[in-house]
Amino acid sequence: MAASPASPKNALGRKRMSNVEYSKIAYSKQAGQTLDEICEQIADCKKCPLWETRTNIVFGGPNPTARIMIVGEAPGKNEDLSGQPFVGTSGKKLDALLEEVGLSHQDVFISNVVKCRPPSNRNPKVAEVEECSPYLRDQIRAIKPDVIVCLGNFATQFVMHTDKGVTELRGKFYQIGAFSVLPTMHPASTIYRKEWAQFLKDDLQLLADWLKKHPRGGSCD
Ligand code: SF4
Repeated sequence: MAASPASPKNALGRKRMSNVEYSKIAYSKQAGQTLDEICEQIADCKKCPLWETRTNIVFGGPNPTARIMIVGEAPGKNEDLSGQPFVGTSGKKLDALLEEVGLSHQDVFISNVVKCRPPSNRNPKVAEVEECSPYLRDQIRAIKPDVIVCLGNFATQFVMHTDKGVTELRGKFYQIGAFSVLPTMHPASTIYRKEWAQFLKDDLQLLADWLKKHPRGGSCD
């Protein structure tokens, strides 16, 4: 996926997110559809114009029972061609950093706010987010992760219902509904800002430490 470096303005563009029905993300662990049912529902989706230029819908993966759900903005070129999330340079960087903190690609379910690649990797439009975000909401409810990691401004502002930038918010967890949310830098942005690579690594270490401190089904201290 091709996220632009974080900027102070709302990553969702000129039209403010308040026009987009923030509530389309339901922050509860209430039972909903299974991932297979959502996958069936999304197949050949033409709800927004992005279907016309996509090669593949990028549903997300790999672990359907992951404790960690990672949310990015939209598929990039490699993801569009393969149908798999985060398989390009950003994905490789993310996988390497996960390994460095003792986690792996298999520990996460990774998806995007929109499932089809916007042309030339532009930001998704408000209407596209409005049409596609219910799939993300349903995926979150199906997976019931313990932690949602938001990569970059776009995913952070969408999931956290905020206009603040990720550079301001990163470095700590926030409770959003039933989920602990950790905003951090998008790996693509760390290509241009080397110091942000350290931010991303520090935040993933925070994630690994949090998971150890909060074992699944265990008590929290
Ligand atoms: S971006 Fe989402 S809503 Fe738009 S066509 Fe693709 S799957 Fe459907």
